[in-house]
Amino acid sequence: MKQVGVHLLQSNATFDIEYTYLVEDTLVESGEIVRGSFVNVPFGRRKQLQTAVVWTLGKESDKNIKLKEISGVSKVRPPLTDAEMQLAEKMSNLYFCPISSCVKCLVPPDAPKGKQVNYVRLCISHDMVDELSANGQLKNIVHIRILENLKEGRRRVSDLAKEIGCTTGVFNTLAKKEYVSIEKDFVVEKEHETELSYSKQLNIYSKHTLNDEQQKAYDYLWSLIEKREFAECLLHGVTGSGKTELYMQLISQTVAEGGSALLLVPEISLTPQMTAHFMNRFGNNVAVLHSRLSDSERNMHWNKIKNGEVSIAIGARSAVFAPFENLRLIILDEEHEASYRSEDSAPRYHAAEIAETIAKIKGATVIYGSATPRVETYYRAIDKEIHYLSLKNRANKAPLPAVEIIDLKEERETGGVDRSGIFSRKLKAELVSNYKNGKQTMLFVHRRGYAKQMLCEKCGSTMKCGRCNMPMTYHEKGDRLICHHCGRTTPAPKVCPACGSSDFERRGIGTQRVAEEIEKIFPGAKVVRMDTDTTSVKDGHEKLLTQFASGEAQFLVGTQMIAKGHDFPNVTLVGIIAADSLINMPDYRAQERAFQLFTQMAGRAGRGDTPGKVIIQAYSVDDYAITAASNHDYNEFYKNEIVIREALYYPPFSSICFIRFMGENDRGTYGIANAVCGKMIKLKEDSIEILGPARADIPKVNNKYRWIVTLKGCNREFLTSFLRKVSQEVDILKTTGKVAISVSFHGR
Ligand code: ADP
Ligand code: ZN
Ligand code: ZN
Repeated sequence: MKQVGVHLLQSNATFDIEYTYLVEDTLVESGEIVRGSFVNVPFGRRKQLQTAVVWTLGKESDKNIKLKEISGVSKVRPPLTDAEMQLAEKMSNLYFCPISSCVKCLVPPDAPKGKQVNYVRLCISHDMVDELSANGQLKNIVHIRILENLKEGRRRVSDLAKEIGCTTGVFNTLAKKEYVSIEKDFVVEKEHETELSYSKQLNIYSKHTLNDEQQKAYDYLWSLIEKREFAECLLHGVTGSGKTELYMQLISQTVAEGGSALLLVPEISLTPQMTAHFMNRFGNNVAVLHSRLSDSERNMHWNKIKNGEVSIAIGARSAVFAPFENLRLIILDEEHEASYRSEDSAPRYHAAEIAETIAKIKGATVIYGSATPRVETYYRAIDKEIHYLSLKNRANKAPLPAVEIIDLKEERETGGVDRSGIFSRKLKAELVSNYKNGKQTMLFVHRRGYAKQMLCEKCGSTMKCGRCNMPMTYHEKGDRLICHHCGRTTPAPKVCPACGSSDFERRGIGTQRVAEEIEKIFPGAKVVRMDTDTTSVKDGHEKLLTQFASGEAQFLVGTQMIAKGHDFPNVTLVGIIAADSLINMPDYRAQERAFQLFTQMAGRAGRGDTPGKVIIQAYSVDDYAITAASNHDYNEFYKNEIVIREALYYPPFSSICFIRFMGENDRGTYGIANAVCGKMIKLKEDSIEILGPARADIPKVNNKYRWIVTLKGCNREFLTSFLRKVSQEVDILKTTGKVAISVSFHGR
């Protein structure tokens, strides 16, 4: 008998240790059990079988303890590779979480149920089909009809044969000529048929010859990839600079030289159109991973990657764990997107950090692409820690739109804001003329969360915490202001400390109010409203966007989710209703988010032939997030922002850890937060700041009260080692009774 150390897969923090079990010598000698093997082990007093991963072979342990024996090896799950085990260990350190929760990110989705059928897909371009039939190379009318039909997307062989009235053998003939390919796939479930119908609207993304700027970037990036050493590069390109074409050509070259490539995009931009473009360029060599897939589809794509059947994957955040053997290139498109951060369950990781960690293990290149990179990423580029490339021109030569800032304070003083309190004279006039011209308009409204702020109606000031420089939140109960960062509270002021006015606005303008107002002004118009309410239904997001894209609606009113996604060539006016509400979010990244959003919104206007116009309404018209966005000037934004980050000791100058406490009993939850906080203060070193407990931005979710303790320190490692020290005294991660505790980090 040999001894092995295993980690339980279903463990919580309490059981996050290596347990020792016995195995038959022969199982190890024959290689049936290796490091990384998934095994079943009897666990606990009732000896229930649990899945575990073998972490150490030939473990030394106390001979006096009676050990149990492993009961079997998993037949379905392939063992973790060395690289994957390294990754899990690094993640466990980086995010202060159990190894088992990291392993869960790496295991394949549940095995598929259901049967497989044959699908047929076009392998040549649409132009090529036309050419073949025009020059007489394709004579058989059945062949022509099949190829024509497949221009609209992949079909089930049996369905198409029935529709055309031919035998299925015809498809084999076409496959031999390499006009089409036939693939086995699980029966596509009803809901995903939509993908096919969307790709019917597809116009082929034809390959572009790179322009000079793109070509320079390509040469530089390829020289990094070619070395097969770890490298990171920020690709800072204005909206429309043609980053996608660059990605495609780099991926193509990587694959041509025997490597694999991974393209990560924000969930929201992983549209059927986008995936269809990739399918068209790369054919069957692409796996797609996103949240709309069923378990069986996900499993199928995962296996295609694992078995080396494809060398390209495109997917959202969790696709960063795609099990490529020979990964040479990872691209994070729109690297600033918040959706790259996993918030729901441990490990609360950032896809960029995982990409970096994997690339280090594998000797791969990571490209961070964005028009508005995160301050942290840009800082690393300036610091020469990572490579930097910029694309300064739009590939299609369309000019960036003119941006005008409207001073709401001045408008109010001169009686300019209309009865609804929403539109300035200028914006209203532009809305009217744009509508008359048959053009489309997008209006951005930042709906505040559940919490409210006090905004002076006269001067636009918000009340800020003297200690954190964060806007404080208004609580009706007790008529008080609370800082959600440090927990400090003060009575709500009766007059504005800045201007002495006693008129405060305590509510926010929501998308619904704006949409209703537009309907009043333009009785015949169709308005699409997009926010978390209207898109929570299945495919809601896609349907609403399609409604707008088709031109059926003239106005699109929405929250941040309208800032990206599709290209609408007919949109020539973009309005931002109240820019201040975004700037005043109680988050140290509020300015960054605001700048990114304004820039992206501006990038929506005038993508077609008519130049676009953007109007930003604001009180704080001199705020650098607004002025920099209006000048399309990232540097202006960064110069201002970085000074504040340094002064207030926020990332990239520090690392922050948020410890969240959630429970049904408010006082009980606070009590535990306070106890953990107290322990930490006792153990704390001078260089660590401990703030809180404070109520979370959203103080109550699903009847659970939320409290936060915030730690600040010089870097991540310093914080995690402090947490390790603390956890020897109190089990921070252990779910204490009815209170759930979670940990997440910002900054390196
Ligand atoms: P980004 O992702 O940088 O915002 P896109 O990749 O969407 O930009 O490209 C913007 C537009 O420019 C697209 O319509 C694309 O087809 C086009 N484009 C890209 N590269 C070229 C090129 N070399 N020549 C002409 N047009 C190009
Ligand atoms: Zn005021
Ligand atoms: Zn504060």
